[in-house]
Amino acid sequence: MTIETILPIPNIFEAKRILCIQPHYDDNDIAAAGILTHLAKNGAEIIYLTVTNDLMGVVDDSLSDEEAARVLTRDQFAAAKIVGVQEQYWLGYPDAGEYGYFDVRRDLLKYIRLLKPDFIFTCDPWLTYEAHHDHIQTGLATSEAVMFAGLTKIASSDPEVDSAYEGHSIQGIAFYFTREPNLIADISSTWKEKIGALRCYEAQFSPADMEQLLVAMDAKSQQVAQGQSFARGEPLKVLHTNALHVGI
Ligand SMILES: [Zn+2]
Repeated sequence: MTIETILPIPNIFEAKRILCIQPHYDDNDIAAAGILTHLAKNGAEIIYLTVTNDLMGVVDDSLSDEEAARVLTRDQFAAAKIVGVQEQYWLGYPDAGEYGYFDVRRDLLKYIRLLKPDFIFTCDPWLTYEAHHDHIQTGLATSEAVMFAGLTKIASSDPEVDSAYEGHSIQGIAFYFTREPNLIADISSTWKEKIGALRCYEAQFSPADMEQLLVAMDAKSQQVAQGQSFARGEPLKVLHTNALHVGI
């Protein structure tokens, strides 16, 4: 008997309803649009939840906050159409701003209890040299909300959701933007869709920065696939939800 037989790495290809929780509008797609497109084509429901309003990343300074929010949403819906995202939610916390960790955790508990996903994607909060607080807060609050989803004594931000919640099973959590992957997902067949989705994010990248991003993505996708039987990959750390505490 090994720990892997007791807590096997969950199979993302069996996921039916995936909630992808990202700090900013484009993180899910930069990190995982290839595998998420693949899973959507296989019939999984894909839902995006964005924690911050992302207003700091908008290139055109002349836009009001309302106009900036509108172009961000426009870009996000265009990308979602390509990836196959079915629903989107936003928490609207200030991008790179001051907000409370436990407020985010309460909101994430609400949406996990409300939407009942069987798999979660988010950014790895333990990524070495990650300096962006939004990424650390989002990854950590998501991990705790996954761990505590069934414990309704730990309140969400919506008492009605908590009292109606009857529990459900979350198979696993997949961390993207990780340096410790245990799965390199084959994205060769969905590379075109990934690039197409990233090109939608016009509000956040100048044309030159977009080309630079795509060159970097091109190199990275091939680098992580070295030694694999396919040409392009996305690295993920996939964990059983019981593996989120005390290092089991
Ligand atoms: Zn981000």
